[in-house]
Amino acid sequence: MTVHFPFQNTYTALPDGFFARVAPTPVAAPRLIKLNRPLAVRLGLDPDLLETPEGAEILAGKRLPDGAEPIAMAYAGHQFGYFVPQLGDGRAILLGEVVDIDGVRRDIQLKGSGPTPFSRRGDGRAALGPVLREYIVSEAMAALGIPTTRSLAATITGEHVMRETALPGAVLTRVAASHIRVGTFQYFAARGDTDGVKRLADHVIARHYPDLAGAEQPYHALLAGVIARQADLVARWLLVGFIHGVMNTDNTSISGETIDYGPCAFMDHYDPAAVFSSIDEQGRYAYANQPRIALWNLTRLAECLLPLFSDDKDKAIEQAQAILAEFPGKFTNAYNAGLLRKIGLFTEQDGDDALVQDLLDAMAKNHADFTLTFRRLGDAAEDETYGDVRSLFAEPAAFDEWAARWRQRISAEPQTPAMRAAVMRSVNPAFIPRNHRIEAVIEAAVNRDDFAPFEELLTVLSTPFKEQPAFADYASPPEPHQRVLQTFCGT
Ligand code: AMP
Ligand code: MG
Repeated sequence: MTVHFPFQNTYTALPDGFFARVAPTPVAAPRLIKLNRPLAVRLGLDPDLLETPEGAEILAGKRLPDGAEPIAMAYAGHQFGYFVPQLGDGRAILLGEVVDIDGVRRDIQLKGSGPTPFSRRGDGRAALGPVLREYIVSEAMAALGIPTTRSLAATITGEHVMRETALPGAVLTRVAASHIRVGTFQYFAARGDTDGVKRLADHVIARHYPDLAGAEQPYHALLAGVIARQADLVARWLLVGFIHGVMNTDNTSISGETIDYGPCAFMDHYDPAAVFSSIDEQGRYAYANQPRIALWNLTRLAECLLPLFSDDKDKAIEQAQAILAEFPGKFTNAYNAGLLRKIGLFTEQDGDDALVQDLLDAMAKNHADFTLTFRRLGDAAEDETYGDVRSLFAEPAAFDEWAARWRQRISAEPQTPAMRAAVMRSVNPAFIPRNHRIEAVIEAAVNRDDFAPFEELLTVLSTPFKEQPAFADYASPPEPHQRVLQTFCGT
């Protein structure tokens, strides 16, 4: 039996300039570290066959499955505000698309599978550490209900990659609704290729926004659609304490998924200015800056679409500005509504936004753990004791004053304490992929070839809203000596 991928490719039908045809570079000794079996089934793949040596060869890029039309996609992008007219898949190769059991088309891509025409000076490879990091964080995001690319598999190549030291090489098999980015539009716009922009926009509408195909102004509607999804996405990030770390326009997905996990992190104690990425020296992509940056990136998308809006440039700009102006309200609505749910409110009253903001301010001043504060507040809603929440605040009295106001507010609602606590536990996770846990997993894998911690962390994170007494430690913030202050790019 050979592994069958039910490919139904569409991107390769686009004009030549959209991509380069390139096959993965075979590697020495593929070894499967992890297969996401449930995801494989959803994609119409046979997990047992993927776990055979032949399957590992495919997932490591040593062997091409039948029907694959491997390509590297072309794109451009603003990196930290500076435009680079050609980036492209420098270390990723799209094997093809399949339609999953929900009827959604999904890209299957190998990341770390060797050089492409877009590699510039890079080696086209990935190291094991960043592959495991992306695997863990993307699957954790999915379990939290946040739109994201998924991880189908991680394989070791049996070769070393040279970074600061020689590290084990690995390939991540990544699944996305598509890998089309704001930067993909910029690639054609920067070349003055309006036909390319239009072809891409039509492809994206058919694939990701089919309801807009019949709209009176489909390209305007497309911009509005991407804006709505990004506003919702970034609100969701903030509500779980996630910091993407590299929100360049080439890492901003048109489908509205979280994509390109590099030096990302979940914060432990609440700090709106939190930055973990070693390369983000100015804090451009700090936690609380993410909505502003998303809008900046969407403005770059709008610029690409202007020629499709109107031949009259001033009119096109005016229309784009009107659509972009929707972002702040959409973001704020999603974010504020999410915060009210996090503190267990079923209704909205004047003063609620201030109530939740006062909690956040007290958390920031008192270095309270973001995830645990909300999680334990759910317990407090039920048992009316505050000890476990108070102790998260450097000055517990700062919480007491707030808690009295909160108690008064929730007692005005008819829901029972048990019902409120249950809802709060369904939106406030107990388990997030904490940096120190990820680092420990990577250390064990890279230095000791021990993948048991990786497996255990994945298990815990797969049900983040459920109490898991056997794994209670995974909910804890790091001890001072375990604290991770910086995260690094995979490159
Ligand atoms: P990233 O920082 O992962 O979003 O990547 C930015 C750009 O650099 C993309 O065009 C990547 O394909 C490219 N790139 C990153 N790492 C490598 C590598 N090791 N080899 C070749 N290209 C790379
Ligand atoms: Mg990228």
